Amino acid sequence: MTFAPTRCSVAYFSMEICLEQAIPTYSGGLGVLAGDTLRSMADLGVPVAAVTLLHRKGYFEQHLDASGLQTERPVAWHPEEVLEPVHARTTVTIEGREVHVTAWKYSVRGFTGHVVPVYLLDTNLPENGDWDRALTDTLYGGDDHYRLCQEIVLGMGGASLLRQLSCDEQTIFHLNEGHSALLTLELLEEQLGGRQGFELEDADFEAVRSRCIFTTHTPVPAGHDKFPIDMVRKVLGDDRVAMLESSGGVYEGMLNMTHLALHLTRFVNGVAMRHGEVSRGMFPEYPINSITNGVHATTWTGPEFAALFDRRIPEWRRDTLDLRYAVSIPLQEIRDAHMASKLALFAEVERRTGERLDPAVMTIGFARRATPYKRADLIFTDLERLTTMAKNVGRIQILFGGKAHPHDSGGKELIRRIFAAREQLGDLVKVVYVENYEMAFAAKMVAGVDLWLNNPMKPLEASGTSGMKANLNGVPSFSVLDGWWVEGHVEGVTGWSIGVPDPAGDPARDVTDLYMKLERVILPLFYGLPFAYAEVMRSAISLNGSFFNTQRMVRQYVHNAYFPGGMPIVPEVPATVLI
Ligand SMILES: *Cc1c(COP(=O)(O)O)cnc(C)c1O
Repeated sequence: MTFAPTRCSVAYFSMEICLEQAIPTYSGGLGVLAGDTLRSMADLGVPVAAVTLLHRKGYFEQHLDASGLQTERPVAWHPEEVLEPVHARTTVTIEGREVHVTAWKYSVRGFTGHVVPVYLLDTNLPENGDWDRALTDTLYGGDDHYRLCQEIVLGMGGASLLRQLSCDEQTIFHLNEGHSALLTLELLEEQLGGRQGFELEDADFEAVRSRCIFTTHTPVPAGHDKFPIDMVRKVLGDDRVAMLESSGGVYEGMLNMTHLALHLTRFVNGVAMRHGEVSRGMFPEYPINSITNGVHATTWTGPEFAALFDRRIPEWRRDTLDLRYAVSIPLQEIRDAHMASKLALFAEVERRTGERLDPAVMTIGFARRATPYKRADLIFTDLERLTTMAKNVGRIQILFGGKAHPHDSGGKELIRRIFAAREQLGDLVKVVYVENYEMAFAAKMVAGVDLWLNNPMKPLEASGTSGMKANLNGVPSFSVLDGWWVEGHVEGVTGWSIGVPDPAGDPARDVTDLYMKLERVILPLFYGLPFAYAEVMRSAISLNGSFFNTQRMVRQYVHNAYFPGGMPIVPEVPATVLI
């Protein structure tokens, strides 16, 4: 099956994309997933082009003082050093003004050399006024009005620019989260030709719907963008608001990007089986599928395990299903690769913080966006219990990382509570919080700890992906049964669960279970039966690493969402597709 190399059959839109360490255009899981998706699409030769915003001021750099108080600094980065200029322009209309939009290009190169272009939209042009020039500066910054204008640039500007660069009438649009849903308005206007908005017919909506698919990413209500309709009217004008109304995008007096996307796409999915169920509960009038997230295997497998896989399962880079064969890797080699990863992480922690960790000690990792529902401090609910178990069963080190959004006071408070607990714990349970958690440190951290802890409030974790990264490096998860872990968990085989299986959860049980299993199951196994522990590590790779990766995920998007009737075939072009 082959595609013409210049035409993009799929256009992938995402507010944030994590391309590489030097490009700070993401805040967390959503951006990392988008980057991993594009890396696997490049590996598989999928003819896709991606669109995001430039975020010229980056996401922020985190500084924590001695009490854990977070302050933020803008990240200095220079787009012209890492991106290519694109000589194409378009405009979007905001409050009756023409705002000019251009783009920069980043090329994601796959395993076989196939290139996926990523266009980062930029409004910092001399033709624009100062306020408009800043529209592509800040990721998740500013107020609702700023965000609405950014989403006009992303959705409408992006679709219009891509039209000039590489798409055609057959291109499928993938909305990675609702931020880009206004691209459907751009497509509706294209559909109209010269007709007026009030002349839209069912066939026009159907034509747009047949080309769009939507992935929803969060059951947290604040994660679904809504804008007061009066504001939208000022920004987009009466005619466009009327079109949005007839498109099903106006809900309870607000422009609701999730409703707009649900209404104008032909395929909708949640990002894990459980998240699909939860989303169907939230939006019962829509059929919602699920395609479980993954991570890009060669990006997140550290050098130590990559060397082991190259030796034992050499085709794993081409076909991640081969990770299944990790089942026959000798346990001693798993232990050796893990110890090398652990030492590399500890050296990096010492370089960054001056803190020295002990490689003989059970080390628990917890890192992700610092926000209250993730409950980073759950393990500190009962400090005495924790120190008693460390004294009686075996010592514990806990390594933390994660930024709180600048406006998330609850998230910032969470970091301070971890610092306070550290003061009270002393030496039996050593706690280190590493500042400025981002891609490069995340890769070291998921590989070098002994256990990956995740205890969000259920059912708010749509998928979670950091546990999947840990799995690729043989690090088992200890997690509540939410998101991907509902599917990845086999008790005592791939890791351990926390709390009840019921989707509603039981916060009190989470705490007792966490302590009980750590004390009676996990620590005794780690210290008493190290080869049995290594067996869990190996199963984490073979059972979970082989499945929870973006190569499997992209194949599902291609076959189930983009081209359910089979892929388009362009006979004259050489085969580049491995799917
Ligand atoms: C993977 C990753 C995340 C997402 O972690 P979750 O456990 O899925 O919340 C966030 N930030 C960075 C830097 C990551 O690499």
